[in-house]
Amino acid sequence: MRLDYLTIFPDYLDALRLSLPGKAVEKGLLELHVHDLRSWTHDRHRTVDDTPYGGGAGMVLKPEPFGEALDELAVDGATVVVPTPAGRPFTQPLARELATRERLVFLCGRYEGIDERIIDRCVDEEISIGDYVLSGGELGAMVLLDAVTRLIPGVLGHADSAVEDSFSAGWLDCPHYTRPEEFDGQRVPEVLLSGNHERIRRWRLKQSLGRTWQRRPELLEDLELSKEQQQLLAEYIREQETDNH
Ligand code: SAM
Repeated sequence: MRLDYLTIFPDYLDALRLSLPGKAVEKGLLELHVHDLRSWTHDRHRTVDDTPYGGGAGMVLKPEPFGEALDELAVDGATVVVPTPAGRPFTQPLARELATRERLVFLCGRYEGIDERIIDRCVDEEISIGDYVLSGGELGAMVLLDAVTRLIPGVLGHADSAVEDSFSAGWLDCPHYTRPEEFDGQRVPEVLLSGNHERIRRWRLKQSLGRTWQRRPELLEDLELSKEQQQLLAEYIREQETDNH
């Protein structure tokens, strides 16, 4: 997979070289190219923004540098993505969809955003990472990249990790524990020490479903639970009710 970033703050994206995306680059599973948008300007001041037509606060990123850059970068079936609060909400299914593309080009907005003619002419996906406003698209693009990179085959050390993550099957992940067995008087749940794989599987599934019911009940509305899943969730709810009485 090849990723290109167009930004006026290329240094901001140095952090991409750390952690998982960096490892994916080292393993040859990902190609990362960060481009300074100013490289596609032609005036002495390397101008990338201008005042908005119609007046009002803030500046708008000019269309010409993006247009020229995309003539070079948006090739070979590349998908052009703009992180924006006005976009489609980012979810795990959307991350999975993006992980199947061979080339992604991210346009990082700043100020009031990018001239709409670029969005209309060149952009395939507008994606929001949440209902709040950041000062630039770089963080948004990094969030998208991180979530997508985890899904590229061979990137995660253990292939099952991504499958068991929250939202993968539609519910939240179960709680996790490591050594020591006892910490500040709190013991690890006995079942996890039992070595009984079937009991552990059922306990984890029950915790996942139970947590989802408690914390994000709307996620369960979209799922068709199997008989076993329904039974485990009913057990979890009964246990909670008993604990609360
Ligand atoms: N005027 C824009 C609005 O109200 O929708 C906000 C512009 S914001 C200050 C500057 C840039 O940050 C945007 O162009 C976008 O690239 C990025 N950004 C801000 N919030 C975002 C979010 N929730 N998701 C994705 N990108 C975001």
